[in-house]
Amino acid sequence: MTQAQPYEGGCTCRQVRYRMTSKPMFVHCCHCRWCQRETGTAFALNAMIEADRVALLSGEPEIINTPSNSGKGQMIARCPKCRIAVWSNYGGMGDKVRFVRVGTLDEPDRMPPDIHIFTMSKQPWVILPPDKPAMHEYYDTKKMWPEESLARHRAILGR
Ligand SMILES: [Zn+2]
Ligand SMILES: [Zn+2]
Repeated sequence: MTQAQPYEGGCTCRQVRYRMTSKPMFVHCCHCRWCQRETGTAFALNAMIEADRVALLSGEPEIINTPSNSGKGQMIARCPKCRIAVWSNYGGMGDKVRFVRVGTLDEPDRMPPDIHIFTMSKQPWVILPPDKPAMHEYYDTKKMWPEESLARHRAILGR
C-alpha cells in the first residue's frame, strides 16, 4: 500500500471519510479509566489537530455529548450508520481542536504517541517504550510540546 499523503481515515462502513491536511500537533496515548471504558480496551490514541485541518470527504458525523473526566463533557463525532467514533472535541479545549482517533486512520502506524498520560491506571501488561514521556496523570503542554506545535496552538486560541 502506498503512503497516502496526507493522512486519510474513516469509519468502518466507509460512510464517513476524512483527511487530515497536516501532521497533528501532538499525539496522546491515554490510559485513563474513561478512555479504557470508551474504547473497551486498554487506552485511547488521539491525534490533536486544528479542526480546520480535518476535511470531511464524505458523510456527516453525528455529534454525541458524552460525559468526560473533567466534567465539561466530550463531543464525540460518530458515523450515523455504524457509530464508529472518528474524533472528539473536549470541553476544556473547545471546538477548535479535534482529537482524531488514530485507529480510524487508514495507516495508523504513521502516528505513534508522543506521550503516555494517566499511566496511574495503565493496564499492567502494557509495557511503555523508554524513549517516550509517561505522565502519572496529565501534564503541562508548554513543557512537553515542541515549539512549532505550541505556536499552532496559540494561533487557534488567538493569542
Ligand atoms: Zn460508518
Ligand atoms: Zn483518557
